Amino acid sequence: MKLELKNSLSVKLLRVVLLSALVVGVVLSCAQIVYDAYKTRQAVATDAERILDMFRDPSTQAVYSLDREMGMQVIEGLFQDQAVRMASIGHPNETLLAEKSRDLEATPTRWLTDPILGQERSFTTQLVGRSPYSEYYGDLRITLDTATYGEGFLINSMIIFISGVLRALAMGMVLYLVYHWLLTKPLSRIIEHLTNINPDRPSEHQLPLLKGHEKNELGLWVNTANQLLASIERNTHLRHEAESSLLRMAQYDFLTGLPNRQQLQRQLDKILMDSGRVQHRVAVLCVGLDDFKGINEQFSYQAGDQLLLALADRLRAHSGRLGSLARLGGDQFALVQADIEQPYEAAELAQNILDDLEAPFAVDGEEIRLRATIGITLFPEDGDSTEKLLQKAEQTMTLAKTRSRNRYQFYIASVDSEMRRRRELEKDLREALVRDQFHLVYQPQISYRDQRVVGIEALIRWNHPEHGLVPPDQFIPLAEQNGSIITIGEWVLDQACRQLREWHDQGFIDLRMAVNLSTVQLHHAELPRVVNNLLQIYRLPPRSLELEVTETGLMEDISTAAQHLLSLRRSGALIAIDDFGTGYSSLSYLKSLPLDKIKIDKSFVQDLIDDDDDATIVRAIIQLGKSLGMQVIAEGVETREQEAYVISEGCHEGQGYFYSKPLPARELLAYLKQAQRTRVGVL
Ligand code: C2E
Ligand code: CA
Ligand code: CA
Repeated sequence: MKLELKNSLSVKLLRVVLLSALVVGVVLSCAQIVYDAYKTRQAVATDAERILDMFRDPSTQAVYSLDREMGMQVIEGLFQDQAVRMASIGHPNETLLAEKSRDLEATPTRWLTDPILGQERSFTTQLVGRSPYSEYYGDLRITLDTATYGEGFLINSMIIFISGVLRALAMGMVLYLVYHWLLTKPLSRIIEHLTNINPDRPSEHQLPLLKGHEKNELGLWVNTANQLLASIERNTHLRHEAESSLLRMAQYDFLTGLPNRQQLQRQLDKILMDSGRVQHRVAVLCVGLDDFKGINEQFSYQAGDQLLLALADRLRAHSGRLGSLARLGGDQFALVQADIEQPYEAAELAQNILDDLEAPFAVDGEEIRLRATIGITLFPEDGDSTEKLLQKAEQTMTLAKTRSRNRYQFYIASVDSEMRRRRELEKDLREALVRDQFHLVYQPQISYRDQRVVGIEALIRWNHPEHGLVPPDQFIPLAEQNGSIITIGEWVLDQACRQLREWHDQGFIDLRMAVNLSTVQLHHAELPRVVNNLLQIYRLPPRSLELEVTETGLMEDISTAAQHLLSLRRSGALIAIDDFGTGYSSLSYLKSLPLDKIKIDKSFVQDLIDDDDDATIVRAIIQLGKSLGMQVIAEGVETREQEAYVISEGCHEGQGYFYSKPLPARELLAYLKQAQRTRVGVL
């Protein structure tokens, strides 16, 4: 804020001080002039008195002796004085003895002085004889012209006026300077400091006490202002705190500090918008406690509150995987799982929460067990808006409670049963190995050079007591998730190596065994040692075990994958890349990895007759493999035409139903014996 000069206090002050000084100067001067006029008038009279005194005796003499000549001489003497305009001697009742007059002096200032002093003034003195008779002879009369007095008076007045005004102005000026120096200047400095104050932190920089003004009103002013600023800051701080706690109250649950329903809706809105863009799934889980009312009644409401707090903490433990966690009110909570790929991830979270509640809560020295029921909705399947998803999740939860408690339920029945099956399978999977429910089947791999069986791929089968044969596509991902793939995988390797030893012993000494490796296994540090051990235990020659890894598994972390593959190779195994072409196949990573073989994914092989694109891809993969010096095998060969095509493109090996389905060991032995006699493919 800049002050305009004309508005500044100094200028205003200057104006007022000068004006009043001027007025005072003029008034005082005028008073003095009036007094001077009075004095001048008195001077005229005194002069007249003196003149009359001086000429009284000669005039008395002249009138006494009636000597006209003498009278005239006296009159002439009187006229020596410039001011005398008229003079006469004589008895009032007789003719005058002597008389003379002259014109009024024509001075230019008359017009001004005449009204004050009068044009002329007459004075008379009686001419009286000596005492004791004191006889009256006549009068001496003079008239004085005031012009000369007027001039003097005027000059005096001028001097009085000018000096009076000047003196007043000088005083005014001094006053102004003093005022400016003592007040206006320090004020401006304070203003400068004031303008630098940050309104958000008013007491951050205190106003400085001005030197020499510490104890006067200015000092007092600065101190008071500083106190005021400090209390403003204190108040603002308090207000901010109040505001933010109001905001918290509006957005968060008072008891648990979790977001409330309104805040959850806002968060979910945003999550849905983001997920819609990247086409990810979102799961909304509504958790409701089973019989919280009973607990409140059995214990106390305080205990109930403590329980809710403890529950909120347990739920928070899962929040690493959550988009949002909120208390919907009462005994209901909501969890939002953002960016999930499969519904089972939500099922898993729900189960984890239920498992988590198994441990009792310690409240007031009592151990309280909580059970909950969870309703789950999925975006985008069950609804595309926050309201729908939340409403359906709550509905599902309530509905689930009526049936049985301590469980989760998906809104869509099919998803729900699918999830249930998955969970059941996962549970059973942990037991499957010890219950001896797995076995391996074997599928031959044919060399196109001489149409001989050169390899066998081991494929796992799970014979579930209730569901029958469960395909590996279904249970391998589950095993990868719960970690059981490590032991299962080791079991497969052991089985496959043992079987290979058997076939070698039965005379098929060149036979190679291919075993599928899961990504989880690949990154398991023990794997190379396990492989090495098995090769030694079963005395298998180098290059007789081939490990199949998938592209996606390798791509996650190429440099570590390359290390793991290298150590596997060092332990004597060959490495094949499975399902090639379905991932991010790129030449650069192929070159940087120690691979022996490429397996063309069966999806390309199966369609290559009808689909030119697939035929082109198959040709390209074969070319690529050959140019890198790798073996190329086509999987999923089902017809003679497919075989003819891959052979014509120079593919080294083939595998598929065209040669044989995966077979149990005994049947495969029969196949091998048969193949020894006839050429494969013509079987
Ligand atoms: P994969 O490694 O690509 O195995 C080839 C799959 O194609 C096998 O399915 C096999 O039965 C099937 N197949 C073979 N020839 C043909 C054909 O001509 N036409 C058609 N349509 N299919 C054919 P399977 O046995 O169901 O295995 C599925 C997947 O499960 C395997 O795909 C593999 O990724 C995984 N898997 C199987 N056994 C194991 C194992 O022991 N360990 C691991 N980690 N994964 C395994
Ligand atoms: Ca395979
Ligand atoms: Ca494959």
